[in-house]
Amino acid sequence: MRLVLLGPPGAGKGTQAARLVEKHGVPQLSTGDMLRAAVAAKTPIGLRAKEIMDAGALVPDEVVIGLIDERLGASDCASGFILDGFPRTVAQAEALQELLVRRGLSLDAVLELAVDEGALVDRMRKRVDETRAAGGAVRADDNPESFKTRLEAYRAQTAPVSAHYAKRSELTRIDGMAPIEDVTAEIDRALSDAD
Ligand code: ADP
Repeated sequence: MRLVLLGPPGAGKGTQAARLVEKHGVPQLSTGDMLRAAVAAKTPIGLRAKEIMDAGALVPDEVVIGLIDERLGASDCASGFILDGFPRTVAQAEALQELLVRRGLSLDAVLELAVDEGALVDRMRKRVDETRAAGGAVRADDNPESFKTRLEAYRAQTAPVSAHYAKRSELTRIDGMAPIEDVTAEIDRALSDAD
């Protein structure tokens, strides 16, 4: 199972990716998680990415492409992976294609979680409240200013990635406004169609 999950911040990619991991036994490769780990560990990549991420902008393509290249070679990716938050630019999508071709692999599906923009800020606020209530640490970029920048980055740089896959007839759109269980069921259906 080699899958790409696309969608704006707050679309529910992380929630659905966790369910897919459970169901298909393949790892979730989230460039956001990888970058946050690099920031926490203060690695050279983390030091370079921190300010950019906090502001809600995209880190340079070569940084995330390098992370994914390294990760795809790991043994736990042998039976597949779920890409969450990558590719986020058309250049990243093209680089991914090269990385896969080099390994003799191809994608089984590219799923886009489509969500009304108006719902996204509310979802972010809800996530912040829930995280606080659970005593967790709120992400530095989960604030209205950075979130606005993240949405702008999505519109300008990531929406064209959906168009890129749609042009190649590789894109399946999923209604991300439906209840979580229904979104999961629609994804399952899309994946059995792709078999
Ligand atoms: P969300 O989907 O909630 O916006 P992520 O956890 O996927 O958040 O990403 C958080 C931040 O990490 C992004 O705003 C960006 O700064 C950086 N990032 C993650 N993935 C990429 C990527 N593929 N290309 C560039 N920057 C990325």
